[in-house]
Amino acid sequence: MLGLMQDSPLLISSLIEHAARYHPHVEIVSRTCEGPVVRTNWRDLAKRVAKLANALRRMGIKPGDRVASLAWNTHRHVELYFAVSGIGAVLNTVNPRLFPEQIDYIVNHAENRVLFFDITFAGLVAGLRGRLSTVERFVALTDADHLPADVAAEAYEDLLSPEPGQIDWPVFDERSASSLCYTSGTTGNPKGVLYTHRSTILHSFMVCTADGFRLSSADSVLLVVPLFHVNAWGIPYAAAMCGAKLVLPGPKLDGKSLFELAVAEKCTFSLGVPTVWLGFFQHIDDTPGLDTSGLRLERVVIGGSAAPRAIIERFRRDLGVFVIHAWGMSETSPVATVGNLLPKHRGLPEKEQIDVQVRQGRVVYGVELRIVDEDRNALPQDGSVAGDLHVRGPWVTSGYFKGVGGDLLDAGGWFPTGDVAKIDSDGYVVLTDRSKDVIKSGGEWISSIDLENAAVAHPAVQEAAVIGLPHPKWQERPFLIIVPKPGTAPDRDEILDFLSARVAKWWLPDDVAFVSELPHTATGKLQKTKLREQFRDHVLST
Ligand code: ADP
Repeated sequence: MLGLMQDSPLLISSLIEHAARYHPHVEIVSRTCEGPVVRTNWRDLAKRVAKLANALRRMGIKPGDRVASLAWNTHRHVELYFAVSGIGAVLNTVNPRLFPEQIDYIVNHAENRVLFFDITFAGLVAGLRGRLSTVERFVALTDADHLPADVAAEAYEDLLSPEPGQIDWPVFDERSASSLCYTSGTTGNPKGVLYTHRSTILHSFMVCTADGFRLSSADSVLLVVPLFHVNAWGIPYAAAMCGAKLVLPGPKLDGKSLFELAVAEKCTFSLGVPTVWLGFFQHIDDTPGLDTSGLRLERVVIGGSAAPRAIIERFRRDLGVFVIHAWGMSETSPVATVGNLLPKHRGLPEKEQIDVQVRQGRVVYGVELRIVDEDRNALPQDGSVAGDLHVRGPWVTSGYFKGVGGDLLDAGGWFPTGDVAKIDSDGYVVLTDRSKDVIKSGGEWISSIDLENAAVAHPAVQEAAVIGLPHPKWQERPFLIIVPKPGTAPDRDEILDFLSARVAKWWLPDDVAFVSELPHTATGKLQKTKLREQFRDHVLST
């Protein structure tokens, strides 16, 4: 027997309608590519969203068509989020930090019909233009006054100005595609993850729960995670759902600009990858006498890579900020685990609370997790063993766009994440590796992530990477590569001494190399394939 509750579809247009009606004066503050900080609010943004939606329809954009963006975090990019999906089209956010060949692959593969871009990327777009076979219109996200004469594109503001500021949003199946984000991957072509209206709304509810990110109308959000990668961790949608204030840093992601924006806009909540926070603290350290008392930050979400213990401690001790360590991936919308404390942790000493925070967070309702061995047998979730991490749930992908990569899921509907993890009985996850980065020494796994975390705790270590190198007796042994902090010159023995107090003896790297920088992917992840190539002929010294 079916129940009798209304079956209204979960659509992204309902979020902007809700925010405009019930949080009309809550601000959206944005640093623009032209320079100045502009202020709007949910009501006025919703009018511009309606104008843009009308303009897209006038251009002939139909449900299911793809529209690309190549842009920083600004109010205009947020407008694209709501307008494109609102009319049933699909917003393909493209990461401008990718190699140009990857960008043209993505734009062509997605068959985007329109490309909206920030003027900062005008040169990039000019270079790609001849190769983008499906794009019919190029729109620069600026007004006519700021559109350089040599940029062949129409101005966004000209497109919006003649259009009416209201729209009757269409109603359609909540499983319709809403946005498309390609994972950068470290090998092969990028693969498209195609989100739905339903997955986006369910993910937003989770972001607003108290055991999720606790996002609410009380928050002013400094949105550092890019709108061009995994829907900025779902925050634009969730902010509209709860009526949070949005603060968008535009192209300025340096520590000083972020610090000043956070103070000026009384931001209570922020999110970003670890590198962003290293820059943030670097600014504090480089500015003697800097007054941090104006910061109102309460919670900061760190994810994308392991949040170093030193950052979690520093946020807590120096700024009174609670770090929520989260894990996820493009394929999981992205948030799958969130690192809040449970009541039983509240009375613990600081060190033990931080021991909980360095884990990759705890499973949230809506996501199921399991770990399996090499034969896909489920392993116990009691924190004792690591295995391949599988996930399933309504905001986890079932396959890549256009069937690339074939069937991803096994018979039980589980998606293999490519991460290796332990899960404890409370549902906290500890990531030990990427499956392709695992180091197997004498048949036992050594966690490269644990070793890297231990190494970055050394005061002279800026960044660390551990890879496995072939070894005649043990098959593989760990090799540590370090970028020293500016002005320091740590040596091999000093580092190994430091590590020996922190990891098991048989985990100690056989060798340490010092380099000036490590290779990263466009999303800031260590590119271990490159490192393995670079050090292929290195002979371990022990
Ligand atoms: P990409 O486009 O490179 O796939 P994603 O953002 O989807 O980018 O990357 C997801 C991967 O990032 C995860 O599978 C995991 O390996 C890593 N990752 C994400 N969050 C964390 C975290 N908190 N700690 C360690 N690694 C993380």
